[in-house]
Amino acid sequence: MDIVTIGETMVLLTPENGLMKYATTYNRKYGGAESNFAIGISRLGHQAAWISQVGNDELGKGMISFIRGEGVHVDKVKLIDSASTGLYFKEVRNESDVRVQYYRKGSAASFMSPDMLDEEYLKKAKYLHLTGITPALSDSCYQVILQAIEIAKRNGITVVFDPNLRKKLWSEEKARKVLLDIAGQSDIILPGVAEGEFLFGESDPILLGKRFLEHGAKIVVLKVGAKGAYYFTSDEYKLVPGFKVEKVVDPVGAGDGFAAGFVSGLIDELTIEKAVERGNAVGALVTTISGDVEGLPEKSEIERFIHSPAEDIS
Ligand code: ATP
Repeated sequence: MDIVTIGETMVLLTPENGLMKYATTYNRKYGGAESNFAIGISRLGHQAAWISQVGNDELGKGMISFIRGEGVHVDKVKLIDSASTGLYFKEVRNESDVRVQYYRKGSAASFMSPDMLDEEYLKKAKYLHLTGITPALSDSCYQVILQAIEIAKRNGITVVFDPNLRKKLWSEEKARKVLLDIAGQSDIILPGVAEGEFLFGESDPILLGKRFLEHGAKIVVLKVGAKGAYYFTSDEYKLVPGFKVEKVVDPVGAGDGFAAGFVSGLIDELTIEKAVERGNAVGALVTTISGDVEGLPEKSEIERFIHSPAEDIS
């Protein structure tokens, strides 16, 4: 196993035409930062496992089939009778105006608890991927994250943390405290500038990178949207430029795609710079297709895109 990730995936409904408020027909997809990441890893040719909890309902079962169909290991996903699978609606008005509406309070995933973690299973992974969404779902979900980090530390598994700040899910005060706690225990952290500013009150990318390193991370990759991403280690920092795309169709999921590209690069033992370049390429491609995961590329596509991006998108 290359990576294990833990988190909630929801049924995703997007209006077929027009605005959410008036639409009568919707497309049904699935979306969740952690399973998006796992699918990205799988499409790039690596072994990924997704741990979660869904309702023992038709949509939960459909979701598991879909994610399994993408080659992700789902043997540790629990179906429960006492709660339903979460749901969210997404309306992309334009690149910078994406509206989401969640129906996830009390969802099956929000009842995840540390007893669902099997150390023998987690131990097989090289990387543990976590996001700041899971601890926002409930206190028991936060305990799952803390326990998973403990298991990772005991077994020499690298912890990769994407803060994925979701202000709708919790108070700013609690979010700041918990995200800083997890960031301080992570080996690799993948924030955006807005998340860095939220955590450290600082918007300069270089200073932010340094703050995250001082806070405990060994590698920090700070995403700066279409411009690409900076990486920081104790020895160096650098901006790795992003790729141009002709049209952004749906920007959601670019961060998860970036994480998949970057971590797959590390698994392939690329340099950090080349891994960030791959992350940028995956993030760029994800924006060109509607849906959180539909634009995630396979390995051959990403290599072609990196070498001739203009040709690929024309
Ligand atoms: P998400 O909305 O998925 O949480 P994020 O805020 O974590 O995303 P972004 O900075 O938006 O992350 O995007 C991640 C990466 O994807 C960027 O660092 C960049 O490499 C690529 N990317 C994002 N938007 C674009 C774009 N418009 N054009 C090209 N590349 C992009």
